[in-house]
Amino acid sequence: MSLRSSHPPVVVVGGGILGLATAWRLLRAGVRVTLVDPGPQTSATRAAAGMLSPFAELPADPAMASAMATALGGYAHFVEKLAADAGVAVAIDFPGTVLLVPETERVAIGDRLRAAGARVEMLDAGALRSAEPMLSLDGGAILLPDEGHVDPRQLHDALQAAFARLGGRWMHTEAESIVIRERGGVGRPVVETGLGPLEAEVVLDATGTGVARFLDEEQRQRLQPRPVRGEILRLLPPARLSHLVHESGGIYLVPQTDGSILVGATAVEGEPRRVTVGGVQWLLEHATRLAPGLAQAEILEIWSGARPLAGNGAPELVEDASGFVFHALGLYRNGILLAPAWSETLANRITRALDRSGIERPGGLDGSSARSEIEWSER
Ligand SMILES: Cc1cc2nc3c(=O)[nH]c(=O)nc-3n(C[C@H](O)[C@H](O)[C@H](O)COP(=O)(O)OP(=O)(O)OC[C@H]3O[C@@H](n4cnc5c(N)ncnc54)[C@H](O)[C@@H]3O)c2cc1C
Repeated sequence: MSLRSSHPPVVVVGGGILGLATAWRLLRAGVRVTLVDPGPQTSATRAAAGMLSPFAELPADPAMASAMATALGGYAHFVEKLAADAGVAVAIDFPGTVLLVPETERVAIGDRLRAAGARVEMLDAGALRSAEPMLSLDGGAILLPDEGHVDPRQLHDALQAAFARLGGRWMHTEAESIVIRERGGVGRPVVETGLGPLEAEVVLDATGTGVARFLDEEQRQRLQPRPVRGEILRLLPPARLSHLVHESGGIYLVPQTDGSILVGATAVEGEPRRVTVGGVQWLLEHATRLAPGLAQAEILEIWSGARPLAGNGAPELVEDASGFVFHALGLYRNGILLAPAWSETLANRITRALDRSGIERPGGLDGSSARSEIEWSER
């Protein structure tokens, strides 16, 4: 076996949703992948609420808004294909979002959402009461009937299962650095790990809030990667919630298939993950104001995670000077929604870099390369 074929073509550092979704696409395209992550239990992915809410969270940037809407459109297909490869089910549902906005702005916000491509239904006070009897509010709301939610932990379990089934290799260790060393007369990436150096043709750094360590000083200054802590509660309410409920500028409630609901989330920039008294108090105050019956709910779980924010809040892809190391960062607060579409673009960039390095790939599962079905507009 030649040296070239004895080391894995692609090393993915970070096994959250982005690293694993990209690795899965590469494996499907016939690329060998090694993933380096000591353990993704503390990833943002496993802390997320799983809302698929491009319109309730509509960003000001039109390119981001359109990417988020596109991501929603392709989500069910992604989950179906992944679940088939993984051999496990992933809970996903599209009950729609009840968006709570100031009554005086409801019509204008509805128009803005329609202009961004959303299907919008206006609910007056009576319609809101019958849609969500648990809520106790005077005014109406906006219904976004196409939005939904996925169970991020089941999705992450499925990605891990599919990765293993398709022959991915997982090294349970931390990556310490990514360096370029000469190999066969050209510079090639090496990932220094706790278990020794790992040579690769192409490296994807998808370490979420851990990314600062792998960027150079200029990139760190420009992108300022930073964590944004979010705390979440899981409650067992006295009655079921039918829709996602999203209060503009406030909290959200996400119904789960077992009848529990998630109440999220705080947002504290620059803070690591931890659960604070103030955070839990804020969530409970807002939740019981919207739905006073929640005072009777049982608290089932409390946790926190750190969202990976960079630059102005949009995902970034940074290619180093060698052209064989990619840093994907900044999925921030919509990474569960965005990762399936974004991972397609990453897989395409990586397969193009492999083509440049002369690595041959057997046909993938689809009998094709990792060509995109949804192309993210590269930023
Ligand atoms: C409270 C909260 C609620 C959220 N709710 C939603 C939501 O409703 N909808 C939505 O779309 N998004 C939501 N998000 C955002 C979403 O969770 C993130 O954007 C997304 O999970 C980021 O994925 P990632 O793969 O980039 O990072 P992560 O999931 O954090 O994965 C990064 C991985 O890299 C590994 N790593 C780090 N450093 C190293 C190293 N040196 N060596 C090896 N491995 C390393 C870590 O162990 C981790 O497993 C939420 C986030 C939080 C915190």
